[in-house]
Amino acid sequence: MQRDGALTSIWQHNMPEYIPQTHTLTDEVFDVIIVGGGITGITTALQLQKAGKKCILAEAHTIGFGTSGGTTAHLNTFMDNSYAQIEKDFGEDNAQLVATVAREALDLVKKNIKEYNIECEHSEQPGYLYSQDKNQTKELDEIYHASQKAGCEIHYEDKIPLPIDFIKAIVYERQAQFHPAKYFYALAKAFEDADGVLLQGCRITGVHEKGDHLEMESHRGKIQARQLIYATHIPPGVNLLHFRCAPYRSYVMAVKLKDDNYPDALAYDMYDPYHYYRTQEVDGKKYLIAGGEDHKTAHEGNTNECFRKLEAYLMKYFKVEEVSFKWSSQYFQSTDGLPYIGHLPGTPDNIFVATGFGGNGMTYSHVTALLLTDLIANGKSRYEKLFDPNRIKPVAGFENFVREAADVVAKFIADRFTNVKIHELVELAPGEAKVVKYEGDTIALYKDENGGLHAVNPACTHINCIVGWNTAEQTWDCPCHGSRFSMDGKVLTAPARKDLEKISLTDLTP
Ligand SMILES: Cc1cc2nc3c(=O)[nH]c(=O)nc-3n(C[C@H](O)[C@H](O)[C@H](O)COP(=O)(O)OP(=O)(O)OC[C@H]3O[C@@H](n4cnc5c(N)ncnc54)[C@H](O)[C@@H]3O)c2cc1C
Repeated sequence: MQRDGALTSIWQHNMPEYIPQTHTLTDEVFDVIIVGGGITGITTALQLQKAGKKCILAEAHTIGFGTSGGTTAHLNTFMDNSYAQIEKDFGEDNAQLVATVAREALDLVKKNIKEYNIECEHSEQPGYLYSQDKNQTKELDEIYHASQKAGCEIHYEDKIPLPIDFIKAIVYERQAQFHPAKYFYALAKAFEDADGVLLQGCRITGVHEKGDHLEMESHRGKIQARQLIYATHIPPGVNLLHFRCAPYRSYVMAVKLKDDNYPDALAYDMYDPYHYYRTQEVDGKKYLIAGGEDHKTAHEGNTNECFRKLEAYLMKYFKVEEVSFKWSSQYFQSTDGLPYIGHLPGTPDNIFVATGFGGNGMTYSHVTALLLTDLIANGKSRYEKLFDPNRIKPVAGFENFVREAADVVAKFIADRFTNVKIHELVELAPGEAKVVKYEGDTIALYKDENGGLHAVNPACTHINCIVGWNTAEQTWDCPCHGSRFSMDGKVLTAPARKDLEKISLTDLTP
């Protein structure tokens, strides 16, 4: 299984590539095209196909290539945006709706596993949230009361499953965990068995209206459908939602412990960014999976440093025998803390989107499947208003959020565009990269392990922000809207649809 970064996640281990059935495109008009083969696209495609819609799923790379291949797969009914915050911003009734639909989402996972007999190590687990100082404890009490009002099964607990000092802890009952790749591979097969069409290596590069339906341009030819869902994590092209979602990167390690003291639960501290923990067994071996050190995409000079900090933190509390896997991945945080699921703003009525999941996409992918299936197959959903992408919710911090996004471009131009001469460029160490200005041109340069130089234009093909180098995953990442590119400029992650322009180095030789 491939992923959009150089490091290997635990889910890629021993996971072969998914081989779909062969399909030749004709002029058939599908009911729905689902763009994006992550957990959201696959779950939604299957749900719609089962509801009687003839669906086609188009994935630019291979399924699981995006963040679904780099997740940690906690299944939660509580979110990064706490129920106390949701209640404050959206009211008690809406907090209850979030808790209700989150439970329905976790039930849908269980139903799918049962119906398709999927072996994906799914197990229900308690989820611990614990405080470590006075302020966190005050916040924890507020979260407890709001979660209870929202309808979560929750209680205080005087122990946590980690060797870490804490003051107070609450436990959410019936959370869960699973092997995400085994799960979505099985759903992809179920989708194809139900006559759904799945195309890999099929990037959708353009959409226009054609009569009463849509026509998509793709790497595999033209595709026609009556409705379109962007399950691309963030919609491609330029859209209002790019200014309402910010890209973040999070870091994960799967480690073996000397003392077998693996937590038999999910657990979270309350720092910002927070640490998250769980245990996973793969091929009969147990691993502690721990994550954290999140930052805004391309805002960290050396992303390897984030792994060093995470490892040091784990060493402090756990008897780590070996770091077996380490990887990082990207998520999108919405302005007001709830995802955007529904009609894509500024487009015809038959184009939908699901984005802004933060660190809760395992749950929100299934919320998407439920909501969009109801909306498309039955014309309405109980949850459509709550998650409406066209909502304008001026919450505290919105102005900062917008200002921060606007600042990004100026910051990166000021910080990185230093004048250097070509001989300094070639002094890059193998594996090192830099954005530089050379005789009026701005160049993103990368030196590979064999000393070969790779040069691209650093202006992101989305809306021209300047990309920064991600040392750990060996990619060019855009700080503004999260587009990501390989060292050679090939587009890896939406919203960009086009590669970075290649620059021929011979043209630069004095
Ligand atoms: C480190 C980390 C840990 C996380 N842990 C958890 C967790 O424990 N629990 C939880 O609930 N959530 C977690 N999340 C969030 C969750 O993993 C994501 O929200 C979720 O995987 C997103 O799935 P997706 O299908 O929407 O997007 P993706 O998995 O990113 O899939 C989108 C797909 O669309 C394809 N695509 C893009 N553009 C096009 C195009 N033009 N044409 C065709 N295809 C295209 C991409 O190739 C990609 O495969 C975590 C996130 C991170 C970063």
